[in-house]
Amino acid sequence: MTIYNFSAGPAVLPKAVLEKAQSELLDYKGSGMSVMELSHRSSWFEAIIQDAEQLLRELMAIPDHYQVLFLQGGASLQFTMVPMNLAQGKKALYVNTGSWSKKAISGAKALGVEVEVIASSEDKQFTYIPELPETIDQEAAYVHITTNNTIEGTAFAKIPDCGAVPIVADMSSNILANDYKVEDFGLIYAGAQKNIGPAGLTVVIVREDLLGQTEIAAPMLDYKLQADNHSLYNTPPTFAIYIAKLVFEWVKEQGGVAGITEQDRVKAGRLYQAIEESGLFQSPVEKDSRSLTNVPFITGDAELDKQFNAEALAAGFENLKGHRSVGGMRASLYNAFPIEGVDALIAFMKKFEQDNGG
Ligand code: PLP
Repeated sequence: MTIYNFSAGPAVLPKAVLEKAQSELLDYKGSGMSVMELSHRSSWFEAIIQDAEQLLRELMAIPDHYQVLFLQGGASLQFTMVPMNLAQGKKALYVNTGSWSKKAISGAKALGVEVEVIASSEDKQFTYIPELPETIDQEAAYVHITTNNTIEGTAFAKIPDCGAVPIVADMSSNILANDYKVEDFGLIYAGAQKNIGPAGLTVVIVREDLLGQTEIAAPMLDYKLQADNHSLYNTPPTFAIYIAKLVFEWVKEQGGVAGITEQDRVKAGRLYQAIEESGLFQSPVEKDSRSLTNVPFITGDAELDKQFNAEALAAGFENLKGHRSVGGMRASLYNAFPIEGVDALIAFMKKFEQDNGG
């Protein structure tokens, strides 16, 4: 039976990347050492981390006045690091588009930062991306947005204009899968475990003028110190960075971010169309707010959703169950997810609909 993994993260990786990693696991380029055993201070690993950074810069067209950091602690640690580094003495503005935005807001509040939620879609269970107010307080430290809401299946189609106030984006679930411009952000962060590589690595892209604005008592949490040390202040997640480098090479082979986003559009487009045409399944998300990477769908009957999930799992569709907070189903179609898996899911949904009175 073919298994298709629709996990929201850790997510499916390109097969070619796993095969390459397998071949370099025992002996890295004739070094006699596993890639996992390389010292982070060795010239072997230096080449890996530098290549990873260079490739990411190329793929995302990251300007020179932005630093690329390879950190740990997940995207969740950024909920603390962002306000700690950027909001000292200033108000921080947040857009509340779902569970992860709420956690980001809590992270800032826990530090005692003054937080204002300037837009929210909570009134309709986060099924749309709200408009931002026309005027943004230009004294604010930043505006935080979650570009793709992994649980709710919404995404910003366009990045708002906040004037001189930097936009900070949690891009965990649609980094390398959109046509955003890095210059529109002051800081971007993403946990790696969806479109970049294994869990344990967090990528931060930060504009240089935002560094060193304040004294941070804890060195590990200071962007400036991490940048000054080229992400090698302590032992970084070496294997995860190595896999990220391979994934970046693979993205480049797919035609870069533009090429892969085109593939993502086709994959998500087919699934959304099947949902639209179905008499049984529906999307809870407003059309112009739909995510390319996380596609929730429901029947409207919790028992039938449960039956679908059980039958889908038995048929080899792994991790389709919607997040426990929203229920239903969710297909995560990250960059490495194969189009055959989308076609197989659509065929399975059609059969289920026929069998269940559709
Ligand atoms: N932000 C978003 C949008 C996410 O999807 C996730 C995890 O799924 C997180 C933050 C939390 O990431 P981590 O588990 O790396 O802390």
